[in-house]
Amino acid sequence: QLKPAPAGRFPIPTSLGPKTVPTPSQSLNDRMALYRGDITKLSVDAIVNAANTALQGGGGVDGAIHRAAGPRLLDACLALNGCPTGDAKITHAYELPCKHVIHTVGPIYSPLRHDTCEDLLVSAYKKSLETAVLNGCETVAFSCLSTGVYGYPSQDAAAAALSAIRKFMEMDTEEKIKRVIIVTFVSKDVDAYNEALPLSFPPV
Ligand code: ADP
Repeated sequence: QLKPAPAGRFPIPTSLGPKTVPTPSQSLNDRMALYRGDITKLSVDAIVNAANTALQGGGGVDGAIHRAAGPRLLDACLALNGCPTGDAKITHAYELPCKHVIHTVGPIYSPLRHDTCEDLLVSAYKKSLETAVLNGCETVAFSCLSTGVYGYPSQDAAAAALSAIRKFMEMDTEEKIKRVIIVTFVSKDVDAYNEALPLSFPPV
């Protein structure tokens, strides 16, 4: 039985806090990985889909995941009655090599509401990791949420994503999440993560 993350367990923060360089930690660095390629090929416990609020499938990585998972994934998604922006829901993975798909919804980016978008993007990462823990998923691969048609600038998205993941890992003292993999697909996200990773996960 798959469990949804309880509402309000992780209140959405008003900001990521001061942008200081975190203390280097080998054990945190060992749990973080970057990979460029097709997320549908990964045999992890959960892949994280950049879904839309209707959970009815779409383009981009959502379309690729639904094509590879087969039609039962859409049936499972439709039974979930949508997903608010910043939240996450989980299904089985059907024909995919991974075990579960976590469907989360990042914000549609607008520079006029940058702080709200950042809070919602951080929330999407946190809720996805919380849902993973609740369902026993130890290895989690994220697509680059919101950086495709939702237009979030890749550098800002990478900084917010890594900060949210690091904060979650620091709280996860029992190391229930063994590895987080950020899956980049296009070169702008590869560049953004190569630049942002040593800032949030500095080398020891
Ligand atoms: P959003 O609507 O949240 O912006 P998109 O699907 O348009 O979602 O894009 C999210 C990210 O997924 C983008 O960085 C895009 O390059 C990437 N992407 C698209 N197809 C794949 C795939 N098969 N595997 C991994 N990432 C992918």
